[in-house]
Amino acid sequence: MLWIVIFEKGSAMKKLVMPALVVVPLAVGAMWVLTGGKSETAAALPDTVAEGIVEGVRFVAPVDCTDPRACVVQNHVDLKAGPGISDPACGGRTYDEHQGVDFRILDLPTMLKGVPVVAVADGEVMGVRDGEYDGAWLARGREAVGDRDCGNGIALKHDDGFVTQLCHLRRGSVLVKEGDTVTQGQHIASVGMSGRAEFPHVHLSVRKDEARIDPFTGRSISDEATCGGSADSLWAGAIPDHWQPSAGPFIFKSGFTSAPVTLATIERAPADPVKDAPALVFYARAVALQKGDIEKIELSGPEGFEPVGSVGQPLEHDKAQIMRFVGRPTKDGPLPAGEYHGRYQIERNGEPILDISRRYVIE
Ligand SMILES: [Zn+2]
Repeated sequence: MLWIVIFEKGSAMKKLVMPALVVVPLAVGAMWVLTGGKSETAAALPDTVAEGIVEGVRFVAPVDCTDPRACVVQNHVDLKAGPGISDPACGGRTYDEHQGVDFRILDLPTMLKGVPVVAVADGEVMGVRDGEYDGAWLARGREAVGDRDCGNGIALKHDDGFVTQLCHLRRGSVLVKEGDTVTQGQHIASVGMSGRAEFPHVHLSVRKDEARIDPFTGRSISDEATCGGSADSLWAGAIPDHWQPSAGPFIFKSGFTSAPVTLATIERAPADPVKDAPALVFYARAVALQKGDIEKIELSGPEGFEPVGSVGQPLEHDKAQIMRFVGRPTKDGPLPAGEYHGRYQIERNGEPILDISRRYVIE
């Protein structure tokens, strides 16, 4: 059967932008500072009366997302139809026309180990698609994906007119077929990055009758976006703090390696540096930054390694994720043996709100 239940316009980052943020070097010399990430502008929207949904269906997350070090909600539903964006808390944790919730896992090596995707509620399988390649969008773009933005997916029909769709599943992982009955929590596939996906995640979209629904508020995507205020969550149980659109920022990966990194290489997990490495680099990838946030990144080491760091300008827009690195090539011989320290900080409204330090030893 042909897959017809495609109701998402895009799943990952709308576009990969590498904005040239102004940085103020703290140290001169051979230093790289490269920034990357995605930028979405938050739209200020009026609060309007919410349309609550009170029926009995309640959802569980499509992946185990209890630990914010392993899983975060990177993008929420864009509740505002048409141009402009609004996440359920009236912020910018979404992008234009994003009609679902992106539960993202740590990185590609984690995905390759196999991360189960489960049915979010009891239901019947309406349609499935499998066979799409993971990473095709990154490798070959639109041409490879065509109109199959969802990639490998499963559509489920639930009680009360609800339909859910799970997208970007790993190739060959779909365990159900059309007509099957599934129960809430049943393992039905694995997390992948098929279709229009630039990082491993599951995109969950919800419809009720024909309306597209945000599971955090029970509200439908409409011209008059109804964000903020109290709302009727469709989640079973309490919503973990780190799922909230206002949560964060999170440090979602950091480490040391031996060459400049990109978002894509961080996703693949850069190799640890060795003594004879051509350079030493400290990197950090953070999720859920807000307009005005100021970042700082530093790398220091033992005698013979000159510290290096930079401070960014206040961010001009909310950012779903951002990557920073700082490093220095080795000039005269191998890296000095000893302890290296990487530190990444985010300041918001004059207060430090995230501060992580990592240590790496070169023998
Ligand atoms: Zn998505």
